[in-house]
Amino acid sequence: MAMLRDATKFTCRVCGETLRFDPLDESTYTTKTDHEDFFGLQLATYRVAHDSGHERHYNSVVVDQRGFFRGHRDAYSEPLRKVEAITDRDYWLFHEEQPSQSSDKFTLALLISRKHRWIIDIVCPEQLNAPELATIVMDRVEEAWRIYNTLPKLMETRLADLDVHVWASDSRVLVVSFKDLSLLKTFEGMVNQIIDNQEESVVPRRQILSLIFRIIEQKSSPSYEILSRILTEDMLFATLHTPYEDRIPNIVEQTGKKMPIAKEILGPLLRGYTTLIELLENKYCDRYEEIYGLVDFVNRRRLLG
Ligand SMILES: [Zn+2]
Repeated sequence: MAMLRDATKFTCRVCGETLRFDPLDESTYTTKTDHEDFFGLQLATYRVAHDSGHERHYNSVVVDQRGFFRGHRDAYSEPLRKVEAITDRDYWLFHEEQPSQSSDKFTLALLISRKHRWIIDIVCPEQLNAPELATIVMDRVEEAWRIYNTLPKLMETRLADLDVHVWASDSRVLVVSFKDLSLLKTFEGMVNQIIDNQEESVVPRRQILSLIFRIIEQKSSPSYEILSRILTEDMLFATLHTPYEDRIPNIVEQTGKKMPIAKEILGPLLRGYTTLIELLENKYCDRYEEIYGLVDFVNRRRLLG
């Protein structure tokens, strides 16, 4: 299949500007990560930067082997001028289109980056000032680092009238206030993966973190392996739109005999009408294990491609 020489086009998630880059020209992107075959596609994630006013915007986009844009992984902005000491304590909210949801089991959940100073408000009541809260939390964390020779992984403390649990790594801090403390044990199985980030530049999307929190709320013994895949895999956001349209009905029927969920979701997925993240976020949240079972089944048998 010939590589399209037209540049790959997508919209900046920070400012909405239309951007282009050439997957064949290394000077037009910052980094490239290849992925394993996925539903017959060879996907790669590219990080592309552009300047807008006093900011530099970074977008991570998933692109197929023909250079077509398939979805966004993450996006964030950085000030171009280095921040002066006076604003050193400032944290900024990472805005994405979805509002933070309220939750039955959590009053508050914030993920804070110490280095990049962003905050992702996974669960945050409207009346709370998240940047101020982050500043106070970071003061507490630094206080603990001063007074303990061995750093406590988990701290329990109180912020205004909120009892919170705080987990900290070198790069990130997670603050959670539980309505239901029985969730703590299930939750701890996942905490390290959220705060020990492998790639400093990747900003986890609120969508993904919210989904993980929702699964933990619903399942007392979730599959941490799948939760970890949800956290790290880029193809959740890819729109598939397979080139093998005529084979779809047959593939759906055959797969449906082994994996019943295929009858409901495989057709729309392969036609590009929906993405894995949309399915997981909406109707199929509690069937995440079946969805991943189906993805692995299709990939392992190379039903596509
Ligand atoms: Zn932009």
